[in-house]
Amino acid sequence: MKTSKMQRVFGLLMITLFMSVAAFGQNKPTIYILATGGTIAGQGATEVTAGYKAGAITVDQLLSAVPEIKDIANIKAEQVANIGSQDMNDEVWLKLSKRVNELLKGDADGIVITHGTDTQEETAYFLNLTVKSNKPVILVGSMRPSTAISADGPRNIYNAVAAAVSPLSTGKGVMVVMDDKILGADDLAKTNTLSVGTFRNPNYGPLGIVYNGKPIYTRESVKRHTSKSEFDITHVTKLPRVEIILSYSNATALFVDAALKAGAKGIVVAGVGNGNMTTVMQNELEKATKQHGVAVVRSSRIMTGPTAQWDEVNDDQLGFAASWFINPYRSRVLLMLALTKTNDYKEIQRMFSEY
Ligand code: ASP
Repeated sequence: MKTSKMQRVFGLLMITLFMSVAAFGQNKPTIYILATGGTIAGQGATEVTAGYKAGAITVDQLLSAVPEIKDIANIKAEQVANIGSQDMNDEVWLKLSKRVNELLKGDADGIVITHGTDTQEETAYFLNLTVKSNKPVILVGSMRPSTAISADGPRNIYNAVAAAVSPLSTGKGVMVVMDDKILGADDLAKTNTLSVGTFRNPNYGPLGIVYNGKPIYTRESVKRHTSKSEFDITHVTKLPRVEIILSYSNATALFVDAALKAGAKGIVVAGVGNGNMTTVMQNELEKATKQHGVAVVRSSRIMTGPTAQWDEVNDDQLGFAASWFINPYRSRVLLMLALTKTNDYKEIQRMFSEY
């Protein structure tokens, strides 16, 4: 059968169109979505959220609710864990950080990690200190399970991918994108048990927002992170044990002794006010430092403001370090990493001033 000139021209046009669509696809940034569980992967029996299970659906099910992300990125998905983040642990942290580093050395242009909100601030900070790359690494969660009315997960995932594909997100440290906000891992706190706007950077303010699918940055972290961090977990298989101990009226040394007996190498005090604690606790911790080489960091149970050196407590005399703006949960993460290198309180103090 003879083909007309019109048919040949049409054929050529179709081939060109097909090739440009394919080329456009190849030009899209490659974003890996690493899933770890959480409410974002939660499932309830009904559309009201009472009684749901976090970490119930797979990453593929999760992503099927936001097909739009395929328009802006080549998406590759991996299930790293599927747990409620209340069960987050060192093993998953090490696995996650090592995988992120490996992918960022390879074809990944950015990483989005789905994660429960309960301990998101700890994981974000761990990655902020152990990922060795300037490429975007963004954590995302949701406060409502995937089956809820107005589930916040799909929008949050879209915004996280939108931020991850943007060149503006390079070198910003690990971030969290939720409720249209971009938050830095250096000052992250979950501030509300229910609200979709739960995450805040209470001391420094958010890094920016995602608006109509584009990140807009208004601040940059001046703290050391990612490629400028001194911590390297490539060959680390176990992290030093660090406990957090709360101070309050009448607090005794009970939990200090328990922590020491359990073999803690470091203790973070979630102190009252400017990292203060009862005298009996302080005396026991001074002994722990001076006699057993246990590293002690004073932090505060207050959400904002510094736990400063040189105020009511003489840290040099006691051999303690002060956490400045790093809250007890993030202090624990930094102290664990610090202890992979040193237990000298002056060095540890330097780290708490720089990160
Ligand atoms: N318990 C859940 C979790 O952290 C809560 C959430 O994701 O919002 O996994």
